[in-house]
Amino acid sequence: MKYGILIDITRCIGCYACEEACAQRWGNPITEAHKLSSIQNTAVIDYNGVYVSRLCMHCEKPTCASACPVGAFQKTSLGPVIYDPSKCLGCRYCMQACPFDIPKYQWDKLNPKVTKCDMCYERIKAGNVPACVEACPAEARTFGKRDELIEEAKRRINENPETYYPHIFGLKEAGGTSVLYLADRPMQKLGFKANLPEVPLSLFTEQIMSKIPGYIFWGGTLLFGIWWITKRRDEVQRLQRKLKEMEENNKKENGK
Ligand code: SF4
Ligand code: SF4
Ligand code: SF4
Repeated sequence: MKYGILIDITRCIGCYACEEACAQRWGNPITEAHKLSSIQNTAVIDYNGVYVSRLCMHCEKPTCASACPVGAFQKTSLGPVIYDPSKCLGCRYCMQACPFDIPKYQWDKLNPKVTKCDMCYERIKAGNVPACVEACPAEARTFGKRDELIEEAKRRINENPETYYPHIFGLKEAGGTSVLYLADRPMQKLGFKANLPEVPLSLFTEQIMSKIPGYIFWGGTLLFGIWWITKRRDEVQRLQRKLKEMEENNKKENGK
Protein backbone atom coordinates (compact mmCIF):
# COMPACT_ATOMS: atom_id res chain seq x y z
CA MET A 1 0.00 0.00 0.00
CA LYS A 2 1.59 3.25 -1.15
CA TYR A 3 0.72 6.54 0.50
CA GLY A 4 1.33 10.06 -0.67
CA ILE A 5 0.47 13.72 -0.18
CA LEU A 6 -1.66 15.74 -2.59
CA ILE A 7 -0.77 19.43 -2.42
CA ASP A 8 -3.44 21.72 -3.86
CA ILE A 9 -1.76 25.03 -4.52
CA THR A 10 -5.10 26.71 -5.21
CA ARG A 11 -6.11 26.12 -1.58
CA CYS A 12 -2.92 27.26 0.14
CA ILE A 13 -3.30 30.51 2.09
CA GLY A 14 0.39 30.91 2.91
CA CYS A 15 0.00 30.59 6.68
CA TYR A 16 3.23 28.56 7.07
CA ALA A 17 1.64 26.27 9.67
CA CYS A 18 3.08 23.29 7.74
CA GLU A 19 6.59 24.71 7.97
CA GLU A 20 6.23 25.18 11.71
CA ALA A 21 4.77 21.71 12.28
CA CYS A 22 7.64 20.18 10.30
CA ALA A 23 10.23 22.19 12.23
CA GLN A 24 8.71 21.04 15.53
CA ARG A 25 8.65 17.44 14.38
CA TRP A 26 12.38 17.55 13.61
CA GLY A 27 13.33 19.79 16.55
CA ASN A 28 14.48 22.51 14.15
CA PRO A 29 14.20 26.25 14.83
CA ILE A 30 11.34 28.17 13.20
CA THR A 31 12.79 30.34 10.44
CA GLU A 32 11.46 33.12 8.26
CA ALA A 33 13.64 32.00 5.34
CA HIS A 34 10.87 29.94 3.67
CA LYS A 35 13.52 28.06 1.74
CA LEU A 36 14.56 24.40 1.87
CA SER A 37 17.70 24.05 3.94
CA SER A 38 19.33 21.71 6.43
CA ILE A 39 16.92 23.08 9.07
CA GLN A 40 13.85 23.25 6.81
CA ASN A 41 12.42 20.08 5.28
CA THR A 42 9.39 21.81 3.85
CA ALA A 43 9.23 25.38 2.60
CA VAL A 44 6.34 27.47 1.33
CA ILE A 45 7.61 29.76 -1.40
CA ASP A 46 5.67 32.91 -2.34
CA TYR A 47 5.33 33.42 -6.11
CA ASN A 48 3.54 36.79 -6.09
CA GLY A 49 0.75 35.57 -3.84
CA VAL A 50 0.74 31.96 -5.07
CA TYR A 51 2.14 29.79 -2.28
CA VAL A 52 4.06 26.72 -3.37
CA SER A 53 5.03 24.08 -0.80
CA ARG A 54 8.27 22.30 -1.54
CA LEU A 55 9.41 19.06 0.09
CA CYS A 56 10.85 15.74 -1.02
CA MET A 57 8.70 14.31 -3.81
CA HIS A 58 9.20 10.72 -2.59
CA CYS A 59 9.85 9.48 -6.13
CA GLU A 60 8.52 6.06 -7.09
CA LYS A 61 12.03 5.14 -8.31
CA PRO A 62 14.24 7.63 -6.48
CA THR A 63 17.47 8.73 -8.12
CA CYS A 64 18.92 9.64 -4.71
CA ALA A 65 18.67 5.96 -3.75
CA SER A 66 20.22 4.67 -6.97
CA ALA A 67 23.08 7.20 -6.74
CA CYS A 68 23.93 6.48 -3.10
CA PRO A 69 26.88 4.04 -2.98
CA VAL A 70 26.08 2.77 0.53
CA GLY A 71 22.29 2.43 0.36
CA ALA A 72 21.50 5.25 2.78
CA PHE A 73 18.22 5.98 0.94
CA GLN A 74 15.37 3.52 0.70
CA LYS A 75 11.97 3.63 -0.99
CA THR A 76 9.68 2.01 1.55
CA SER A 77 6.65 -0.10 0.72
CA LEU A 78 4.45 2.59 2.31
CA GLY A 79 5.69 5.26 -0.11
CA PRO A 80 8.14 7.46 1.85
CA VAL A 81 11.76 7.59 0.74
CA ILE A 82 13.74 7.41 3.98
CA TYR A 83 17.37 8.19 4.76
CA ASP A 84 19.63 6.42 7.26
CA PRO A 85 22.27 8.88 8.53
CA SER A 86 24.27 6.07 10.13
CA LYS A 87 25.07 4.67 6.67
CA CYS A 88 25.83 8.03 5.02
CA LEU A 89 29.47 8.70 4.21
CA GLY A 90 28.96 12.30 3.10
CA CYS A 91 29.74 12.00 -0.62
CA ARG A 92 26.60 14.01 -1.52
CA TYR A 93 25.95 12.09 -4.75
CA CYS A 94 22.27 12.14 -3.75
CA MET A 95 22.27 15.94 -3.88
CA GLN A 96 23.74 15.91 -7.36
CA ALA A 97 21.34 13.23 -8.57
CA CYS A 98 18.00 14.52 -7.25
CA PRO A 99 15.96 16.08 -10.10
CA PHE A 100 14.06 18.26 -7.63
CA ASP A 101 17.08 19.68 -5.78
CA ILE A 102 15.80 18.40 -2.44
CA PRO A 103 18.53 16.92 -0.20
CA LYS A 104 20.45 19.51 1.81
CA TYR A 105 23.66 19.16 3.77
CA GLN A 106 24.56 20.19 7.32
CA TRP A 107 27.67 22.15 6.34
CA ASP A 108 27.88 23.76 9.76
CA LYS A 109 27.97 20.48 11.74
CA LEU A 110 31.11 18.63 12.80
CA ASN A 111 29.66 15.35 11.58
CA PRO A 112 27.40 16.59 8.78
CA LYS A 113 24.55 14.57 7.30
CA VAL A 114 22.04 14.98 4.52
CA THR A 115 18.57 16.26 5.43
CA LYS A 116 15.19 15.94 3.73
CA CYS A 117 11.52 15.21 4.44
CA ASP A 118 10.74 11.56 5.24
CA MET A 119 6.96 12.01 4.90
CA CYS A 120 6.84 11.54 8.67
CA TYR A 121 7.48 7.83 8.17
CA GLU A 122 7.22 6.94 11.86
CA ARG A 123 3.89 8.73 12.17
CA ILE A 124 2.56 6.95 9.08
CA LYS A 125 3.68 3.57 10.42
CA ALA A 126 1.79 4.36 13.62
CA GLY A 127 -1.37 5.11 11.63
CA ASN A 128 -1.15 8.90 11.85
CA VAL A 129 -0.93 11.54 9.13
CA PRO A 130 2.22 13.62 8.52
CA ALA A 131 2.63 16.60 10.85
CA CYS A 132 2.38 19.19 8.06
CA VAL A 133 -0.87 17.68 6.78
CA GLU A 134 -2.37 17.67 10.26
CA ALA A 135 -1.40 21.32 10.78
CA CYS A 136 -2.77 22.69 7.51
CA PRO A 137 -5.95 24.69 8.24
CA ALA A 138 -6.94 24.98 4.57
CA GLU A 139 -6.84 21.33 3.48
CA ALA A 140 -4.19 22.31 0.97
CA ARG A 141 -2.33 19.12 1.89
CA THR A 142 -4.16 15.78 1.79
CA PHE A 143 -2.59 12.53 2.93
CA GLY A 144 -3.83 9.19 1.63
CA LYS A 145 -3.26 6.25 -0.64
CA ARG A 146 -1.55 7.41 -3.82
CA ASP A 147 -4.20 5.80 -6.07
CA GLU A 148 -7.01 7.51 -4.17
CA LEU A 149 -5.20 10.86 -4.21
CA ILE A 150 -4.93 10.59 -8.00
CA GLU A 151 -8.69 9.93 -8.24
CA GLU A 152 -9.37 12.87 -5.93
CA ALA A 153 -7.14 15.13 -8.04
CA LYS A 154 -8.96 14.06 -11.22
CA ARG A 155 -12.30 14.73 -9.54
CA ARG A 156 -11.26 18.25 -8.54
CA ILE A 157 -10.03 19.01 -12.07
CA ASN A 158 -13.19 17.63 -13.69
CA GLU A 159 -15.58 19.40 -11.33
CA ASN A 160 -13.73 22.73 -11.36
CA PRO A 161 -12.15 23.14 -14.80
CA GLU A 162 -12.04 26.92 -14.35
CA THR A 163 -9.92 26.55 -11.17
CA TYR A 164 -7.33 24.00 -12.21
CA TYR A 165 -4.74 23.60 -14.91
CA PRO A 166 -5.62 20.08 -16.13
CA HIS A 167 -2.52 18.27 -15.03
CA ILE A 168 -1.56 16.26 -11.94
CA PHE A 169 2.11 17.05 -11.40
CA GLY A 170 3.93 13.98 -10.11
CA LEU A 171 1.62 11.48 -11.78
CA LYS A 172 4.31 10.71 -14.34
CA GLU A 173 7.12 13.23 -13.84
CA ALA A 174 10.46 11.54 -13.13
CA GLY A 175 8.67 8.20 -13.33
CA GLY A 176 5.98 9.27 -10.83
CA THR A 177 6.17 10.62 -7.29
CA SER A 178 4.29 10.10 -4.04
CA VAL A 179 3.86 13.86 -3.60
CA LEU A 180 1.39 15.17 -6.18
CA TYR A 181 0.43 18.74 -7.06
CA LEU A 182 -2.60 20.53 -8.41
CA ALA A 183 -2.39 24.19 -9.41
CA ASP A 184 -4.04 26.78 -11.62
CA ARG A 185 -1.04 26.88 -13.97
CA PRO A 186 1.78 24.60 -15.10
CA MET A 187 4.17 23.84 -12.25
CA GLN A 188 7.03 24.99 -14.49
CA LYS A 189 5.71 28.51 -13.83
CA LEU A 190 6.02 27.86 -10.11
CA GLY A 191 9.68 26.97 -9.85
CA PHE A 192 9.68 23.35 -11.04
CA LYS A 193 11.96 22.16 -13.83
CA ALA A 194 10.42 21.89 -17.28
CA ASN A 195 10.63 18.75 -19.39
CA LEU A 196 11.14 16.20 -16.64
CA PRO A 197 11.08 12.82 -18.39
CA GLU A 198 8.28 10.38 -17.61
CA VAL A 199 10.66 7.46 -17.17
CA PRO A 200 12.36 7.05 -13.79
CA LEU A 201 15.55 9.12 -13.67
CA SER A 202 17.15 6.34 -11.67
CA LEU A 203 17.57 4.59 -15.04
CA PHE A 204 19.96 7.38 -16.01
CA THR A 205 21.98 7.43 -12.82
CA GLU A 206 25.21 6.70 -14.64
CA GLN A 207 24.71 9.62 -17.03
CA ILE A 208 23.79 11.90 -14.12
CA MET A 209 26.87 10.80 -12.22
CA SER A 210 29.04 11.48 -15.24
CA LYS A 211 27.96 15.14 -15.09
CA ILE A 212 29.13 15.52 -11.52
CA PRO A 213 32.13 17.88 -11.43
CA GLY A 214 35.35 15.89 -11.16
CA TYR A 215 36.36 17.18 -7.77
CA ILE A 216 33.04 16.10 -6.26
CA PHE A 217 33.11 12.72 -7.99
CA TRP A 218 36.67 11.88 -7.04
CA GLY A 219 36.24 13.52 -3.66
CA GLY A 220 33.23 11.30 -3.03
CA THR A 221 35.10 8.24 -4.23
CA LEU A 222 37.96 9.13 -1.94
CA LEU A 223 35.59 9.55 1.00
CA PHE A 224 34.07 6.20 0.19
CA GLY A 225 37.47 4.54 0.13
CA ILE A 226 38.68 6.14 3.32
CA TRP A 227 35.42 5.48 5.11
CA TRP A 228 35.33 1.81 4.30
CA ILE A 229 39.02 1.04 4.51
CA THR A 230 39.98 2.94 7.64
CA LYS A 231 36.60 4.00 9.14
CA ARG A 232 38.34 7.15 10.31
CA ARG A 233 35.64 9.72 10.74
CA ASP A 234 38.04 12.58 11.45
CA GLU A 235 39.79 12.00 8.13
CA VAL A 236 36.47 11.87 6.28
CA GLN A 237 35.44 15.11 7.96
CA ARG A 238 38.71 16.81 7.00
CA LEU A 239 38.12 15.83 3.37
CA GLN A 240 34.52 17.03 3.53
CA ARG A 241 35.73 20.44 4.66
CA LYS A 242 38.29 20.48 1.86
CA LEU A 243 35.62 19.59 -0.70
CA LYS A 244 33.38 22.36 0.56
CA GLU A 245 36.24 24.84 0.23
CA MET A 246 36.89 23.65 -3.35
CA GLU A 247 33.21 23.94 -4.24
CA GLU A 248 33.02 27.47 -2.86
CA ASN A 249 36.15 28.49 -4.76
CA ASN A 250 34.69 26.95 -7.89
CA LYS A 251 31.43 28.89 -7.45
CA LYS A 252 33.37 32.14 -6.98
CA GLU A 253 35.43 31.48 -10.09
CA ASN A 254 32.26 30.82 -12.09
CA GLY A 255 30.68 33.97 -10.66
CA LYS A 256 27.71 32.03 -9.16
S1 SF4 B 1 12.75 14.14 -4.72
FE1 SF4 B 1 14.98 13.82 -4.71
S2 SF4 B 1 15.45 13.31 -2.57
FE2 SF4 B 1 13.24 13.02 -2.83
S3 SF4 B 1 12.98 10.85 -3.39
FE3 SF4 B 1 13.11 12.00 -5.31
S4 SF4 B 1 15.30 11.90 -5.85
FE4 SF4 B 1 15.15 11.36 -3.67
S1 SF4 C 1 5.72 15.00 5.79
FE1 SF4 C 1 6.69 15.36 7.80
S2 SF4 C 1 8.84 15.61 7.32
FE2 SF4 C 1 7.74 15.86 5.39
S3 SF4 C 1 7.34 18.06 5.20
FE3 SF4 C 1 5.57 17.18 6.23
S4 SF4 C 1 6.02 17.40 8.41
FE4 SF4 C 1 7.95 17.66 7.34
S1 SF4 D 1 -0.38 24.97 6.33
FE1 SF4 D 1 -1.57 24.62 4.46
S2 SF4 D 1 -2.42 26.64 3.95
FE2 SF4 D 1 -0.78 26.99 5.45
S3 SF4 D 1 1.03 27.38 4.16
FE3 SF4 D 1 1.03 25.19 4.60
S4 SF4 D 1 -0.03 24.24 2.87
FE4 SF4 D 1 -0.50 26.44 2.83
